[in-house]
Amino acid sequence: MTLTITFFILGLLIGSFLNVCIHRLPAKESIVFPRSYCPSCKNQIPAYDNIPIISFMLLLGRCRSCKNPISWRYPAVELLNGIGYSFILHCFGPTPETLIYAIFFSALAVITFIDLDHQIIPDVITLPGIPISFLAAATVLSTGWMDSLQGLLLGGGLFYMIAWLSLLLLKKEGMGGGDIKLVAMIGALLGWQKVLLAIFAASVSGSVIGILLIATRLRGRSDPIPFGPFLVIGGLISLFFGNNILDWYFHRP
Ligand SMILES: [Zn+2]
Repeated sequence: MTLTITFFILGLLIGSFLNVCIHRLPAKESIVFPRSYCPSCKNQIPAYDNIPIISFMLLLGRCRSCKNPISWRYPAVELLNGIGYSFILHCFGPTPETLIYAIFFSALAVITFIDLDHQIIPDVITLPGIPISFLAAATVLSTGWMDSLQGLLLGGGLFYMIAWLSLLLLKKEGMGGGDIKLVAMIGALLGWQKVLLAIFAASVSGSVIGILLIATRLRGRSDPIPFGPFLVIGGLISLFFGNNILDWYFHRP
């Protein structure tokens, strides 16, 4: 219980840093310097106003200097990362695997929000993410290097082919380069069976949510809907429930 709470708080604190990454990486700003500042009045945020979740509640969601509202996304990202960390610990126990998956979870959270905002998946995360995932899979994780390599090549190769075919047949970009690198990273971490499951889950959730968005007129038919967040959802479903789903599908005991 103490460990779960510690890990939850660690998740909140790192979540606060993820907010910095989400806002600064697309602008190619340093994520270390300067210290956090209010996006409205540019005043630096003192440490006592930068406590995850708590500061947002104490300040009633407004900047102390300019009183402009602070986006609800800041505490939401912190809370999401905290809950994610606790759930990973719950699933994988106090093991080195838990640490790897926690880093993976945080990277995916940053990718999701940047893709939602800017329709890009930053190379600074996925390019080092692919070899790091492979190394982790080869040494710490149960995936192993062979399955990791197969997952990387299968996921990345499949998406590369979709991108190439849609350019050839539909004369438009169906799949961005960012998606290709993201799915290769997920494949390297989870192996070939689970990356296929991740892609399947991403396609299903993408279709359902896409149809809902169009039906409720939140998005038009021609508005681009980024695929990265769905790949992230698929990757996480595969990470947490992949073994159960695959056992059930293949009737394994
Ligand atoms: Zn302000």
